[in-house]
Amino acid sequence: MGSRDSYTLDSDIRDLLPRFAPSMEATARVASIRVRLERADMQTVVVGAGKSGLAAAALLRSKGARVVVAEDRVTPENAAHVAALGADLAAIEPATFETAELVVLSPGVPRNKPGLQPAIDRQIVVGEIELASWFIQVPMIGITGTNGKSTTTALVAHILKEAGRRVFAGGNLGEPLSRLAMRPDDFDIAVVELSSYQLESIVDARFEVACWLNLTPDHLERYRDIDQYAAAKERLLARRAANGVAVLNAKDPYCSDRGIRLGGPIRWFAGETKSKLAQTMGTLLSESGDALRASEDKDEIEHYTLSGAGLIGAHNKANACAAIECVRHFEIDPALVNRGLSTFRGLPHRIEAVGTIDGVRYYNDSKATNVDSAIIAILAVSGPKILIAGGKDKGAPWAPLVEAAVAQDVKAVLTVGEAAPIVEAAFSGRVPRVVHCGDIHRAFEEARRLAVAGDAVLLSPGCASFDQFKNFEHRGDVFRAIVQAAAGRGTA
Ligand code: ADP
Repeated sequence: MGSRDSYTLDSDIRDLLPRFAPSMEATARVASIRVRLERADMQTVVVGAGKSGLAAAALLRSKGARVVVAEDRVTPENAAHVAALGADLAAIEPATFETAELVVLSPGVPRNKPGLQPAIDRQIVVGEIELASWFIQVPMIGITGTNGKSTTTALVAHILKEAGRRVFAGGNLGEPLSRLAMRPDDFDIAVVELSSYQLESIVDARFEVACWLNLTPDHLERYRDIDQYAAAKERLLARRAANGVAVLNAKDPYCSDRGIRLGGPIRWFAGETKSKLAQTMGTLLSESGDALRASEDKDEIEHYTLSGAGLIGAHNKANACAAIECVRHFEIDPALVNRGLSTFRGLPHRIEAVGTIDGVRYYNDSKATNVDSAIIAILAVSGPKILIAGGKDKGAPWAPLVEAAVAQDVKAVLTVGEAAPIVEAAFSGRVPRVVHCGDIHRAFEEARRLAVAGDAVLLSPGCASFDQFKNFEHRGDVFRAIVQAAAGRGTA
């Protein structure tokens, strides 16, 4: 069965979609804009002067369009970038859109922003991903989900590269898709990480593989409720190419319900040993923690080894199962898939092994900016553990992390940053030691004092980083540098 558009859905689903699924009329309008864009001189507005907005503006300029960049927060830097592209700057207000024939939206700007409404009403607004897709002929693998997008995107790209493909990996991670659209001959496949914000504004983009990893409550500042958030994710399934496939998590109720209701070709994955769906039409885990894939003709079971250094933890095994399905759609030989799985090193700041000193393993999991991610790390790292936690608290309960820490042999919690009192109150009396350290330098010194060979020290803060760092990358880079400097001093 080929892809089905959202306007062919049954009514109960249609109720969830109206904010994101364009009507037939809007789809037709976008198609005609797309044709007219071929002629030079179209008047366009790009909303947002961030990374993807500037990339979209560059793409439009390269096609001969006239470009205005609408931005409310003008800085000397973004003004200089806009000027260098030969575009003009304006505010996000109705007058800016009056003569526009096409408006390209950056994912950071919500569709219901007041100044934008006249353009939304005229049905001339598309996202940066949609614009880029008009100039991309190579097959695209779209990857979305609440968690694991970047890791899975990087893993799929890595496997394909190892198999000799020229791979563009980007979208929400790394380079905007518009960069690929400007260099179409350099690549033969694209792996595109897609946030729900990006998916809200795709119209006609088509994905050979539409991979939806999972859905848990998030971004509820932008969405009315989780159903509306799911409706944005679901757009990816609706944009499956005619010969495409959806890759869906059989164990996630949102993915499986929506996938089954939308219909179309599906391959399933499960980061578990049992799943009827994945057993017959997908990939799941073996008892030993490797992956088993039912081939399309079901006569053969393919085996994949998941013991690579980049695949620590149950969550990464789930990501690997999804990645296997994504690449097998392109008939990458199982031996080459296995090679890619074994050589993948993971992404920085996600349970990243940064060094071993005196038999103690150190992990940088600075990307764990919420309690749920810190739990995942505690479950993933083996042996007795010392946890470094704290930063800028997000207000979610700490109790689930405390329970995980008690069950997973956390022998000490070292607290840092603004949230230290909250973290200390939560863990006090529940783990053998709680030590107030203030910052990660002192936390590292304390960890050195407490840890013995065989222990792991895990920076998995469960908090945002903005109290002491620019961002989570900065925090992780500082921690990695501290560990590596100590390892380099000959104590290793
Ligand atoms: P994203 O790009 O979606 O934010 P990442 O790949 O950067 O996801 O992973 C971020 C964090 O999300 C990881 O450090 C881990 O805590 C968690 N995570 C990753 N994969 C999964 C998964 N499949 N299920 C649940 N949590 C996950």
